[in-house]
Amino acid sequence: MTEKNLLTPTQIVRSKRRTISLTIDRDGAFVVRAPINAKDVDIYDFINKKSKWIKAKRLAAINSAYKPLKFKDGEKVLILGKEYEIVLIDAKKVKVVDNQIFIPLNNSETYLKNYFVGLCKKLLPKRVERFCAAYGYKYKGISITSATTRWGSCSYNNHLNFTYKLIMCPRDVIDYLVVHELTHTKVKNHSAKFWQKVEEVLPNYKLQEKWLKENRKIIDVI
Ligand SMILES: [Zn+2]
Repeated sequence: MTEKNLLTPTQIVRSKRRTISLTIDRDGAFVVRAPINAKDVDIYDFINKKSKWIKAKRLAAINSAYKPLKFKDGEKVLILGKEYEIVLIDAKKVKVVDNQIFIPLNNSETYLKNYFVGLCKKLLPKRVERFCAAYGYKYKGISITSATTRWGSCSYNNHLNFTYKLIMCPRDVIDYLVVHELTHTKVKNHSAKFWQKVEEVLPNYKLQEKWLKENRKIIDVI
């Protein structure tokens, strides 16, 4: 959900009432209740006045939806930004079919982690190479880590580290994380020069930054 979407009501309910009220439920659904004859412009004015509160409350609700997996049937997990329903099966391999991910019922967590690591090992070198070919970055190597507080890092000698958790993010966000770390091969800090170099490669990188901010709790899922 983007910053602008945060202010878009999930539902507007008109009824015999005299005032406008806003509610945000635990899933982040945003319901506006308004008098039958309230004008749209008045409703949106009211929303704009409360925009700070709405954004904060919806962000908190969205982020709290990302809780550590308990590995129960029906739980949802994101892969490359797409939602899959967990189905536990008596097997020794993770398998994805349509919108479902089949996970062995014993040691489920380890199986899913290893599956994520495998996906990262396939995807990340390709994306890193793509940006290196196009923009001439030089790096030492790539490691897939289980870092829990940051998506990636770049060492003093330009070794790139990415946490397997980033496979949950959409592809454009992963590309941004790749470009972010590759840019650190040229600029080690987060100075204006650094962001300028990121922007040269990804003019819309702020959208991905925003996604990461809004969805930061996803890193705690597994
Ligand atoms: Zn950085």
